[in-house]
Amino acid sequence: MQRELFVLFTMDVEPAAAAAGHSGPVSDEAGMRAVLDYRDVLRSWGYRATYFVHPELTQSQPEFFTGLAKDGSALGLHIHTTKFAPSPQPCELGGLVADEQRRLLRMGTEMFEKGLGYRPTLFRPGCFSASDVTYQILCELGFSGGSVSIPGRIWPERSCVWSGAYPYAHLAHRAFRQSVGDLPFVDIPLSVDLTGGLKHHPVGFCHYPDLRPGGVYSEAAEVDYDRCSMLRSILQRTVADDPPVKTLVVDVHNDRDFTATDSQAAGHFTQLLEAIVPTCRTLGLKPIPSTYTEVVQRFRKERE
Ligand SMILES: [Zn+2]
Repeated sequence: MQRELFVLFTMDVEPAAAAAGHSGPVSDEAGMRAVLDYRDVLRSWGYRATYFVHPELTQSQPEFFTGLAKDGSALGLHIHTTKFAPSPQPCELGGLVADEQRRLLRMGTEMFEKGLGYRPTLFRPGCFSASDVTYQILCELGFSGGSVSIPGRIWPERSCVWSGAYPYAHLAHRAFRQSVGDLPFVDIPLSVDLTGGLKHHPVGFCHYPDLRPGGVYSEAAEVDYDRCSMLRSILQRTVADDPPVKTLVVDVHNDRDFTATDSQAAGHFTQLLEAIVPTCRTLGLKPIPSTYTEVVQRFRKERE
């Protein structure tokens, strides 16, 4: 019997880079172009994305995002506290005390609601930065799931340490972020290749490589991992571990070129899209194009 694999393509939708060295597209218009290119490529393969959107953009471009969700794509909230325009901070979310996290997340949630007319229920922090209080606060604010963890990444400068995090969809823990718990928040971690050991990334952190097309901070990959063998390793391990809800989560940013023939990100993207179905077939998996909204609901149903 084939086992279901929920395939989740995601995107961090960032505002224009405020200054040299900050991540983000060169302009909001270029960022929106990248969003549409990503959507169109995915659509041609039968996938819909989950977009985690920085709150300023939901206010400045509400029609754009409302239109984006019309085909069943999902929208969630994304905040880098370092570049959150109404109240920029010296560090990312996980480095802030609980009251500050609550204040900023509430502000971002209200901005999103004002822009798009409903409260977000999905969340991904900038740089996957979180502390032990983050999930509890997300629940207080009505979030039901998201992409908070990046198993294995150690980047203290960005308040991102997930050294022993559980790597599959799970309910978050109320006291210790790396454990499985019973909070009503379904975390669906980014898929990383745990099989080849922890790697040092030239940007300055330790991690297990993930499938994102292009690099973390530049158009070209800082380290050129073979996306196809990485995909196979990730899925082989998923099959061996056999979690109740199996997911494949891919992240990208809206400052990449997903269509140009000379773009490395576009090349990686195509390689990955071509490899998913045949790799799943050899492992007895049935890939199901999904969004975070759908998989959060599915996870809850499985537990009923
Ligand atoms: Zn981001």
